[in-house]
Amino acid sequence: MKWALIGASDIAATRMIPAMRELGHEVVGVMSSNAARAQEYATKNGLKLHTDNLQTAVSWDVDAVYISTTNDLHKEQAIAAAKAGKHILCEKPIAIKLSDALEMVNAAKEAKVVFATNHHLRCSATHRKIRELVTSGKLGTIFSARVNHAVSLPERLRGWRLDSAEKGAGVVLDIAVHDVDTIRAALAADISEVTALTSTQGLGTNGVEDSAMCIFRMDNGVLVSSHESFMVPYGTTSVEINGSLGSIRATGVMTQDPVGEVVLKTSAGEEVVDVGDRGNLYIWGLQKFVGAVNGTEEPAATAEDGIASLAGALAVLESAKSKRTVNIAEILKGAGL
Ligand code: NDP
Repeated sequence: MKWALIGASDIAATRMIPAMRELGHEVVGVMSSNAARAQEYATKNGLKLHTDNLQTAVSWDVDAVYISTTNDLHKEQAIAAAKAGKHILCEKPIAIKLSDALEMVNAAKEAKVVFATNHHLRCSATHRKIRELVTSGKLGTIFSARVNHAVSLPERLRGWRLDSAEKGAGVVLDIAVHDVDTIRAALAADISEVTALTSTQGLGTNGVEDSAMCIFRMDNGVLVSSHESFMVPYGTTSVEINGSLGSIRATGVMTQDPVGEVVLKTSAGEEVVDVGDRGNLYIWGLQKFVGAVNGTEEPAATAEDGIASLAGALAVLESAKSKRTVNIAEILKGAGL
């Protein structure tokens, strides 16, 4: 597969270009809003082409584009790519407004191109195993879950994420959106209600939150709590799921790397679960994307997953702002969904 990168980003350089190349894909070129940065990025990452023009990038001889600009720009870029007939792998959150997300997804549908969302966590062997344990009935009736995703935002990423609300900054659109997606995937359920508090504890400025605590009611009745933060240097990330026949405690699993441990506790005692081949999360996601382009399978996270996980994150922000419990149906209805 041949790719154009829309966005001279850190995630493309550190994770996606290596993953694409490991699969034998060709990364043809990069678009940046700044011509000099496009050229520098292309040289540094060994790309043939570079441009500061979106139309040029989407008209290159490529099969697909990978969009990893700031969140406010995904919409225009995805629509341009769809109109040019390119398949789209878009970073999360797919947009900063649901109505924008809907327009993007509809443009891809009209153009009959694949639109996938790069929610990497559900691609990891640990999270896939958790979903399997839940959906196979091994845990019995599921009552509750808890996600701990409080980390320290790496120094190199302390830019727009911390101060530019108009670009989609903040821990909610950065991390809570992943947690919403992770829990939706693990429980094979959607969110119906959200109550949340957010806080600015040191890194965020201009009213941008750097910490959040959320409570979700899923549409199957499961209650979920989550903690997201950019402020916690020594925490341990985790997912816990509690059912009538067993509980899972997965530690160190809310990460980009194929690490962490899944422990299952049942009447038989406690065991460390074999999660199988751990592999690279991004490669797994890319393989599913290729399958979707070939028409043989669904993307790891579909366009609809991108919309639903964004809706959950926006409901967190709305709840924190309005100091009330927010119904997802209300958020979706507001966007005409
Ligand atoms: P970056 O800050 O690295 O890049 C975002 C944009 O910032 C780039 O498109 C670029 O604009 C601009 N930029 C980058 N470096 C510079 C610089 N030195 N000077 C000026 N501008 C610069 O963002 P991330 O890679 O962290 O995130 C990009 C997207 O990917 C976001 O949507 C984010 O949510 C998502 N993401 C997803 C992850 C995942 O695992 N799924 C992990 C991390 C991020 P231009 O292109 O115009 O040059």
